[in-house]
Amino acid sequence: MTKISDKNIFTATWSYDKAPESTDHVKIKDQYELFINGDFIKPDKGKYFNTINPADNKVISKIAEASSTDVDKAVLAAKNAFKKWSALSGKERGKYIFRIARLIQERAREFAVIESIDGGKPIRESRDIDIPLAANHFFYYAGWADKLSYAFPNRKVKPIGVAGQIIPWNFPLLMAAWKLAPALATGNTVVLKPAETTPLTALKLAEIIKESGLPDGVVNIVTGAGQTGAALVHHPGIDKIAFTGSTAVGKYIQNAIAGTSKKLTLELGGKGANIIFEDAAIDQAVEGIVNAIFFNQGHVCCAGSRLFVQESVADLVIDKLKHRMNSLLVGDPLDKNTDIGAINSKKQLQTIKAYIKIGLSEGGEIYQPECILPKGGNWCPPTLFLNVSQSHRIVQEEIFGPVLAIQTFRTVDEVIEKANNTPFGLSAGVWTEKGAKIFHLTQKLNAGVVWANTFNKFDASSPFGGYKESGFGREGGLHGLKPYVKFD
Ligand code: NAP
Ligand code: MG
Repeated sequence: MTKISDKNIFTATWSYDKAPESTDHVKIKDQYELFINGDFIKPDKGKYFNTINPADNKVISKIAEASSTDVDKAVLAAKNAFKKWSALSGKERGKYIFRIARLIQERAREFAVIESIDGGKPIRESRDIDIPLAANHFFYYAGWADKLSYAFPNRKVKPIGVAGQIIPWNFPLLMAAWKLAPALATGNTVVLKPAETTPLTALKLAEIIKESGLPDGVVNIVTGAGQTGAALVHHPGIDKIAFTGSTAVGKYIQNAIAGTSKKLTLELGGKGANIIFEDAAIDQAVEGIVNAIFFNQGHVCCAGSRLFVQESVADLVIDKLKHRMNSLLVGDPLDKNTDIGAINSKKQLQTIKAYIKIGLSEGGEIYQPECILPKGGNWCPPTLFLNVSQSHRIVQEEIFGPVLAIQTFRTVDEVIEKANNTPFGLSAGVWTEKGAKIFHLTQKLNAGVVWANTFNKFDASSPFGGYKESGFGREGGLHGLKPYVKFD
């Protein structure tokens, strides 16, 4: 129900009543074990770490911490399972993957709530984006499992072997799906390492995998911190590493496996340019700016964190953007009205705050709408910076939070040069009514994905990945099969 806090309907300010998502149906255990060889087993050293709810910083569950001995066990299980799994027909493999997709759909609401509790993202996003897209990835790759000869015509493909997969905390279940589905479809077995702050949905997925009857050892899930990931990277039994995370850790991994026969794909950071031309549909573009930078609290590798507005419409766009920011609701991730949830961890909040300080000290002009932030959790209001230039650190470095750096431009050539002037090359957006301008820019921008008159749209059938320090290899679509096969 809405409330009017002023008697005059024309001058009234509206506020929303709470609309909390029900948590009655959600089962979260006090303690989770490792998922190895089809069983939930205790960690070798008996160590556990806490996973926290970033909206109140309270402990949700204790999670097993995998040591290198546990990683050994998981890799061995995957190796043993590989023979049988890779020998199954594509049609049979597809059935299991399809079953996993269906089971995610059946328990979608439970997954969405857990994703929001563990990671802080608004329930609207986990419910409408993360979980359905995760199911879609399994459906999509289930379809490819028996059609690999169409994916690679006139070539005989084989699976690579055991894939070590390491994922970040910003889209926990979705990243697990991006990694697992193509690996399984092509006949590989897997050891997956979820992020330390968001392990719960991967462990729920382990329950589903068990329920699906997938043969033991085909998927193993080892929770832990960076060290667990490093043990996986260094393990001699691993044939391929698929990593999504920061550029710094990506570089470390590339170094670590140099000189070995391990294959590698890296999906790393970004600093996406969102470009608004004067002929764009301005109101839609403003919505696009909001979606590009404030979706998932800005914890998005492909976020449009650098905004370029053509000078002639800059004042108009910035006015409208500020106005729109005033209506964004920051708060409880489990409230269906929430636009911006909790920052994923205390550490990430510190990083964002440090960048805001840097932005101010470098002379940036800040705007944050007035909003009352809840107490107890990790919160950051939507933030924009004006009066910045290419050399500012907040323009060059990935902040991974709801912080937008705005610059203006006059000509197409100028904006292409500015947009490409970054070590990253993951995403970009172009807003204009001219198709020719769109095609011109999509060719010139060094970005793996360029959205036109939209932003942050994902689909299982479309490839995703970066250039330059944003990594290499593609996930999603037909292209996403290739990193998991070798040719005869
Ligand atoms: P991160 O610190 O690099 O961590 C990513 C994963 O690697 C986590 O599971 C982490 O474990 C693990 N890890 C940490 N140190 C490791 C090491 N030495 N060896 C092996 N694994 C190690 O990144 P993050 O902070 O979680 O995620 C944010 C970053 O991911 C951003 O830069 C973002 O742009 C990027 N990202 C990229 C994409 C893409 O598709 N290009 C998608 C999403 C996110 P812990 O969790 O325990 O630290
Ligand atoms: Mg957590």
